[in-house]
Amino acid sequence: EKKDLLAFQGMKTKTADGIEVELFGNIGTPKEAQTVVESGGEGVGLFRTEFLFMDKSSLPSEEEQFESYKEAVIAMNGKPIIIRTLDIGGDKEIPYLEIQKEDNPFLGYRAIRYCLDRPEIYRAQLRALLRASAFGDIRIMVPLVTCMEEIRSVKELLKKYMQELDAEGIAYNPNIQIGVMIETPAASIIADLLAKEVDFFSIGTNDLTQYTMAVDRGNAKVAALYSTYQPAVLRSIRTIIQAAKAEGIMVGMCGEAASDRRLIPLLLAFGLDEFSVSSSAILATRKAISEISLDKAKEIAEKALQLTTEREVFEYLSQNMQ
Ligand code: PEP
Ligand code: MG
Repeated sequence: EKKDLLAFQGMKTKTADGIEVELFGNIGTPKEAQTVVESGGEGVGLFRTEFLFMDKSSLPSEEEQFESYKEAVIAMNGKPIIIRTLDIGGDKEIPYLEIQKEDNPFLGYRAIRYCLDRPEIYRAQLRALLRASAFGDIRIMVPLVTCMEEIRSVKELLKKYMQELDAEGIAYNPNIQIGVMIETPAASIIADLLAKEVDFFSIGTNDLTQYTMAVDRGNAKVAALYSTYQPAVLRSIRTIIQAAKAEGIMVGMCGEAASDRRLIPLLLAFGLDEFSVSSSAILATRKAISEISLDKAKEIAEKALQLTTEREVFEYLSQNMQ
């Protein structure tokens, strides 16, 4: 099995009939960028930056963040790296920030909401990302977007910090790509509008499933409802990919579903451009993609989308797994 997979090291990621997609890795520290490359990844599709904030007793400075992002992008050796800006709150707590306890933390003060409310904290991160973009293909991704104003605000801030860096004579990539994570029903519903505003989407199925099904992703009592095979979630994923395609922007997926073999036919059929999975799943995902043709994937997707329950979808997709 393992030897089998090694044949896929260094190969492109293609369906059985030669349709190429991109296969990236998810990371949580700069060191892991190297692991993605060594594991055969073609880029990083999600760098969760929370660790930079969690492993400490106070806020990391712009300089510290710059060094971390620079280390990661240099390890990529020209390959793209999508870095997500701070996604705290919800299940990700940082004690020294002293965020007040909330009744519904997943519906509260988290991610982009927090960052836009604390511009001095966000400024350090955005400036560090811009500075590191002079060393490779860094792309910035904004988590938990629910409305247009949020992404426009981030773009405004970036413009302002680019002007600051210009005045200071510091290099950055002026064409740096900006994307949104589509992980709320609101973002999915306005995906057609958001697609006109950004360079790429990445679907965060962990949160998209939670918010679409109105199920706390950590609550065992309602865990049965937490499933990407739910027709509501699958339809949402299809809407998002179609909206990106209609505007000609890149659409990836960085939630757990991207490495689920059962879902690969659907994602290919919908037209997903990029799969971002954990390093350990890269070769197995490349192999699974290589075993199915686009025609077959479309046939499976069409049938799956006609099914009405989660169980039916799960069983049908399980039967069709190679
Ligand atoms: C997601 O929500 O799918 C995701 C990739 O982000 P996280 O799991 O960090 O919330
Ligand atoms: Mg998320």
